[in-house]
Parts: sequence; structure tokens; C-alpha cells
Amino acid sequence: MTALCLICRHRTTTHADEYACPICTDDLRAWLTDLPRQAALLQEFVAPGSRPAEGRLGGTGRAHSPAPADLRVLTLLGPGRYDPHPGTDDDGTPPIHAVLTAWAGHIAYTYPAAHRDPYGTARTEPCEQAWPSYGFTIPGWCAWLTAYLPYTLTLPAVADLHRDLGDLIRRIRDLTHDHPHTHPMAAPCPACQAFALARTDGHWHTRCHACGHTLTPDQYAHHAAEVLDAHQASDGTAA
Ligand SMILES: [Zn+2]
Ligand SMILES: [Zn+2]
Repeated sequence: MTALCLICRHRTTTHADEYACPICTDDLRAWLTDLPRQAALLQEFVAPGSRPAEGRLGGTGRAHSPAPADLRVLTLLGPGRYDPHPGTDDDGTPPIHAVLTAWAGHIAYTYPAAHRDPYGTARTEPCEQAWPSYGFTIPGWCAWLTAYLPYTLTLPAVADLHRDLGDLIRRIRDLTHDHPHTHPMAAPCPACQAFALARTDGHWHTRCHACGHTLTPDQYAHHAAEVLDAHQASDGTAA
């Protein structure tokens, strides 16, 4: 049994107790992988010439200050708080670090209520705070959120996480102009036969843009080999 994806509302989830389909889950993984790199690109706006933006900048650092950095960049990289609860729509730009820590906190807080350990025993110890093993940094929080993604998929709030991270990465990419590329695939879609299969950088699945059919890399490789075999066989009979 599977359920309807709460995010796209037209594909189904892999497991009945999940709320996100494989394609929407792909988005989350790809964004969490790309965020540290995007944040590093933003840092370059603030500190050109690879000079660290933080730390003890002396008077010499300020002497070479370029034009004032875009306020949106400073806000995205700055401190501040963020409330991930649905319904608190705020049109302002939320800081990256605040969005990630707020979500990690929210997920960690709900963790004991629903989680069972690998032996099937319900966990009762509280998990009130998230501790990223790579530090309280943007890469650290992205690694934490990626590690907890299988659990997060079982929370309806995954739809809000998808919206928040999607908004965040779009805001950042508007500033960095660094967008992922989509590569068309050679073989036609096995479901609808359209030549509309494509794979986007950072995404696991190949997807048909005509009918929405999805393939894992292994499934696509197998399918492409079959298409090639069939093509060569028909060439053989025609000759
Ligand atoms: Zn979906
Ligand atoms: Zn298709």
C-alpha cells in the first residue's frame, strides 16, 4: 500500500507511512546537498578574493571593501530566528542557518514520539535537541537533515520542509545565478514512449516530462540497453 504524495499531490509514496514521493524526496536530497555550496558562493559576494567573511578583519580588510553587499545576501548569511510552523507566512528573507536549525529542532522534537529502533522497540528517551556531528554550521545541519530524511518522510510536516527549502534555494540561486542543469536522456520513456526522459543535476531519478514516469539509474541503464538491443535486432532483420 502506498499513499498520495502530500507535496506534488499526484505521485504516490514508496511506503504507506510516508508523505513524500521519490521525486519530491529527490528535491529535498538535492537541495540539502547543494545548500552548503550555494552558501559558499554567497560568501564570495561578502568577501571577494576568498578572504574569510568572519574572524578578525583588521583595518586593512575594510580598506578594500567593494560596493556594499546586497542586503539579501547579508540576511541569508546572517544570524536570526525562523519559525518553521505552517501558517506563519513571512515574506521576508529568512537566514539559511536559522531555517536549517529550526527544522532540525522541529524534527528532533517529534522524533521520540513516533520512532522505533531497529529491534522494533518504541523509543522513550527524549530527543529535545539536534546535535549535528559536523558542527553547528550550514554543512553540518544539511548533513543532519539528510541523515534524518527517512524519518522526516513519515511526518506530514515534510511538505512544509519541502516548501521552505525550495523557497530558500530559489532565493539563493537568484543571487548566485548557479542553477542545476537538466540533461535529456537518449532512450524513450518506457511508459509513454515519448522522448521526454531527463535527469537533473543532483537528482537520483530520471523522470519523464511527458507522463511523470520515473526510473532509478539502474532501471534507466537496463531500459536503455534493452532499447539498444531491440534497435540493433531490427536493423539486423532489415539488412
Ligand atoms: Zn511528490
Ligand atoms: Zn513517459
